[in-house]
Amino acid sequence: MKTVNHWIGGKPVEGVSGNFGPVTDPATGQVTTQVALASVEEVDAAVASAKAAYGTWGTASLAARTTVLFKYRALLDSHRDEIAALITAEHGKVHSDALGEVARGVEIVELACGIPTLLKGELSTQVSTRVDVASIRQPLGVVAGIVPFNFPAMVPMWMFPLAIACGNTFVLKPSEKVPSAARRLVELATEAGLPDGVLNLVNGDKVAVDRLLENPDVAAVSFVGSTPIARHVFATGTANGKRVQALGGAKNHMLVLPDADLDAAADAAVSAAYGSAGERCMAISAVVAVGGIADTLIEKITERAVKIKIGPGNVPDSEMGPLITKAHRDKVASYVHGASAQGAEVVLDGTGYTVEGHEDGHWIGLSLLDRVSTEMDAYRDEIFGPVLCVLRTDTYEEAIELINSSRWGNGTAIFTRDGGAARRFQLEVEAGMVGVNVPIPVPVGYHSFGGWKESIFGDHHIYGNDGVNFYTRGKVVTTRWPDPSDGGVDLGFPTSS
Ligand code: NAD
Repeated sequence: MKTVNHWIGGKPVEGVSGNFGPVTDPATGQVTTQVALASVEEVDAAVASAKAAYGTWGTASLAARTTVLFKYRALLDSHRDEIAALITAEHGKVHSDALGEVARGVEIVELACGIPTLLKGELSTQVSTRVDVASIRQPLGVVAGIVPFNFPAMVPMWMFPLAIACGNTFVLKPSEKVPSAARRLVELATEAGLPDGVLNLVNGDKVAVDRLLENPDVAAVSFVGSTPIARHVFATGTANGKRVQALGGAKNHMLVLPDADLDAAADAAVSAAYGSAGERCMAISAVVAVGGIADTLIEKITERAVKIKIGPGNVPDSEMGPLITKAHRDKVASYVHGASAQGAEVVLDGTGYTVEGHEDGHWIGLSLLDRVSTEMDAYRDEIFGPVLCVLRTDTYEEAIELINSSRWGNGTAIFTRDGGAARRFQLEVEAGMVGVNVPIPVPVGYHSFGGWKESIFGDHHIYGNDGVNFYTRGKVVTTRWPDPSDGGVDLGFPTSS
């Protein structure tokens, strides 16, 4: 059986703790791989390697850093298919979707290639007589990245390319459910010429995460995952004096006004709710239908949903793959059954679905629930599966109040032809990323990604300018080159003159 090990100091390192976890192909339900689960000592070895490399990488020229990043970008480009296949084999998402996540990750490497521009400081000359002030940003040291299962390649690339471009060294802890794509990304960085120790990888579970949060040589932690773990990572990391950004879960609403193009809205709802089997933090999981359009909209969503082809991600005409584990599949199914018991109308019931020839895969079909209320579990919890809830309101005001009462605020979208309503929505809605007739408004690399409320803990969104600020700290240098005529002791507080 294939084993995925660690990558420390520019080379593979076998797991010596003797602990391994199983990695399953969700389309077959078979264990295909074992992944090393790091001990405290193994995590410490990776951090020590990153700390040693920081000595030279932290002061490497911008040209030296970008030379590697440009080569890395080219290598990733020629390995897109291979990385996407690794994602599909362990996550289950269809190949085209996996290629999409690789593309969005490479976008951040491209951003990092422009680090000389992003790190340009500020200079004010002659703030006082013969005095200049410069603001510069410097790296933090060793940064750790802890990532979820649902984007095995993209989320790691939200973090390490920009962190190392800023001069930090890095320790990545992938999800133990999907370790192979991240492991390949790290190998390719060494192939691109990244010096040994700048980018390390330890596989593992809670033991590895908790050690990264405690190791005194880790200066900062980027985390993406579920809300309870994000809260834990933020609380523990900051209590240990680290800078932490911890992105959590979501429940994303799509508000549809009566004047919207309902065909376009139905296309968007189906794509955004069921793409990647709903295992996206930016998936639309709740449609809020305003002013009597719900019946027509549901009809149009149903027409489209029943045509979606479910099957293994490596079969070319599959549009939706399986869920990550059997346990997760059963939990998703329990929300559909629970919603029915709690009074929702089950328009489509995807539970019990299976794919011929792959009966042990983690399959579930598409579910659509109507007349969902905010008290139902299917609405209150993040289901993270192909289940779309429809809530009905009479007015825009009721709809915005409903959305703003959610404990999450990751992404949201409005569908309308009314520019005034769209403008009002973007100002009033409490969420970090807003789409206007765009169902999954994931920002491009040069804008930052992040939610509000329980979708994030910490002040910095990820990548874009927020990413650069998170991975650097400010320093202000005040310089005076005295003139021979200057002199004399002055105990007063310095003022400008
Ligand atoms: P998860 O929180 O279970 O795991 C995330 C990481 O934390 C993994 O590396 C895992 O090994 C580690 N971990 C798990 N349990 C831990 C524990 N008890 N202590 C310490 N570390 C632990 O999340 P997941 O199931 O892998 O991913 C899905 C979740 O991630 C969803 O909630 C989704 O919304 C969220 N997500 C959010 C974003 C975003 O940008 N906000 C993006 C992608 C995914």
